[in-house]
Amino acid sequence: DAKISIEHFNYYYTKATTPAIKNINLQVNEGDFLVVTGPAGCGKSTLCMAMTGAVPKFYGGRMEGMVFVNGKATTQVEIPDLATEIGVVMADYDTQLVTMTVGEEVAFAMENRGYSPEQIKERSAAVFKQVGLEGMEERKITSLSGGQRQRLAIASVLATDPSILVLDEPTSSLDPEGTAELYKLVGTLNREHGITVVVIDHDLHAVLPYANRLVLMVDGEIRSDADVPTTLRYM
Ligand code: ADP
Ligand code: ADP
Repeated sequence: DAKISIEHFNYYYTKATTPAIKNINLQVNEGDFLVVTGPAGCGKSTLCMAMTGAVPKFYGGRMEGMVFVNGKATTQVEIPDLATEIGVVMADYDTQLVTMTVGEEVAFAMENRGYSPEQIKERSAAVFKQVGLEGMEERKITSLSGGQRQRLAIASVLATDPSILVLDEPTSSLDPEGTAELYKLVGTLNREHGITVVVIDHDLHAVLPYANRLVLMVDGEIRSDADVPTTLRYM
């Protein structure tokens, strides 16, 4: 069963006469670690936002075709409800952080979903361990490094236990060491925690060792959708 199914999908930003992405047919399967790559402007972010319902919900514009997440049409589901199925960390992850302290940030997502204080405590401890931020709950978010703030953004979307994690250009503000650490973490979430992963990256060398599928976009279309040979998975 597909975790995400995009069918005959075209999307036009407001006022655009040509689609930003077109003729998209893509199934993301349970357990996939799928990488979307391609040149600047080819539609990677738009495709990512189509998966999460952010286009057209946040951006307006017009879509044709269908997108299903866990079998539900994104047009039929409210974005907050989708967030418990598909977690998104955008390239500008700092805009997703809305509280003062690390602990509050992760609790916030769960409070909004009606989790009890006990559930919040238990789940917070689990996600902080997953992303390597244990013991930092009292820290001010402004005192964290960029890599730590990004892991906090990941922790806060994992808090509500989504089965899919989408990361748009997650390494754009990281140095090579931070990039390697980030993909090691995401690889672990995929392999050991069973989370289906979609990563957008224009640069492939750091991410391919963890990926099983590679999608290439050119001019708004999927040019290639291929398995990653296991020989490239050296990590
Ligand atoms: P990528 O992520 O591969 O760089 P995008 O998905 O951001 O590509 O952009 C795909 C196309 O859609 C580009 O032609 C871009 O200019 C256009 N586009 C992106 N965002 C908007 C927007 N908010 N309004 C209008 N056009 C947009
Ligand atoms: P912008 O002027 O940045 O294009 P938009 O109207 O497109 O603003 O977006 C409205 C708000 O929704 C912004 O704060 C943006 O960060 C947020 N947003 C966009 N995509 C998502 C997403 N996938 N999940 C959550 N919030 C999003």
